[in-house]
Order: sequence, then C-alpha cells, then structure tokens
Amino acid sequence: MRIILFGPPGVGKGTQAKILSKDLKIVHIATGDILREAVSRGTELGKKAKAFMDRGELVPDDVVIGIIHDRLRERDAKNGFILDGFPRTLPQAEALDKVFDKMKIKIDRVMSMEVDKEVLMNRLTSRRVCRNCGSIFNLLVDKLSDSKCTKCGGEIYQRDDDKRETIERRFEVYQNQTRPVKNYYGTKKMLVEVDGIGEIEEVTGRLKLAIG
Ligand code: AMP
Repeated sequence: MRIILFGPPGVGKGTQAKILSKDLKIVHIATGDILREAVSRGTELGKKAKAFMDRGELVPDDVVIGIIHDRLRERDAKNGFILDGFPRTLPQAEALDKVFDKMKIKIDRVMSMEVDKEVLMNRLTSRRVCRNCGSIFNLLVDKLSDSKCTKCGGEIYQRDDDKRETIERRFEVYQNQTRPVKNYYGTKKMLVEVDGIGEIEEVTGRLKLAIG
C-alpha cells in the first residue's frame, strides 16, 4: 500500500501517519522528520534547511526531491509507504510522478485531512514532541506533569516552528504553495478528503475507511 497523506500544518498528519504505518506495516516517511534530524545532527543538509524551517518557509524543491528520491529506494520502502509532508509544491508532485514512473510503481491513495484554521492554531501552539521517540503530545489533552515523555521518559520540547508568528507564515505558505497540490490530485481523481476533527481514533477510523 502506497499512501500520500496531505493537509495543512497541525492537522494531525504525523500522528495519523505513525498509527497507519504501524497498522498497515508500511514505512512512515516524513520529510519534516528527516529534515529536523539533519538539523539536530548538524549535517550539510541540516545546515541548508535550518534557516528555511525556522522562518516557516519551504526548503527548496531540489533538496526535498533529492531526499525522497533516495528514501523511496531504500529496502524498507519496498512493501509500501506513507508519505507525510511530501509533496508540498507542484514541482514536487510532478517530480514524484516521475520517480514513481521510473520505479514502475503507483500510488494507491492520496488522502487529504481538513480542519478549521482556528483549531489548527490551538493545536500547534500546544503541540509538544518527544526528542527521543518522536511521540506527539498536546498540552490541552495530554497530562505531562514533569515535561517527560509518557512513552519513553525522553525530553519533551516545543518545535521552533510551532511559535505563533511562524505558524501564521506556515499557513500562508500552505495556502499559496501547497493547496495547488490538492487540486493537482483532485483533477486526476485521486484525492479522498477526510474530516480531521475529532478524537485520534475517530480520525484513524475515517482514514482506514478511505483506504478500504
Ligand atoms: P513538517 O514537520 O511536515 O511540518 O515540516 C516542517 C518544516 O520542514 C516545513 O515547515 C518546511 O520548512 C520543511 N519541509 C518539510 N517537508 C517539506 C517539503 N516537502 N518541501 C519543503 N519543505 C519541507
């Protein structure tokens, strides 16, 4: 099963992609996670990406396309994958089509999650992430009494780009550059829209229904 999970910042793509990846036994590929890891390790890629990420802007297409091009060819992606946060621009979507053609594979589902902007803003400003295992928490829902991950005990932190001004910029970028990607898959009749409001399990149920 090869899935693209699509939607605005904070819609819950990461949370849902992690669950689906486990349930369907397919690898979760999130360009944001790959880039954040590169930044924290201080690699060449990380140095290139950091300034864009801190401003809430997109990392240049050639950089992320290169990442995905290599990542999809790794062994663990053979059984299928769920793409989270890619493609985010039309050139990325077109490049992905070419990669798929070359690899002689097809995408099975493109699912778009939708949630109101105000809800997204609240979710993002209260989002916290475990530095160790990557688990995602929400201060409005999860009880994190001592700033430690309830799953592994790791340190909980707030992503630099989850500050209010940066979030505003990320929404703008989404509207201008990423929304057209939705239309791209829409006109190809590949897009399924899924309501992202509700409990995590509820949304997972809707996504599974859409996967079939
Ligand atoms: P995310 O974790 O998906 O919200 O991504 C965090 C940040 O990483 C974004 O705001 C971008 O700066 C960068 N990023 C992640 N995926 C992409 C992509 N497909 N194209 C360009 N930049 C990306």
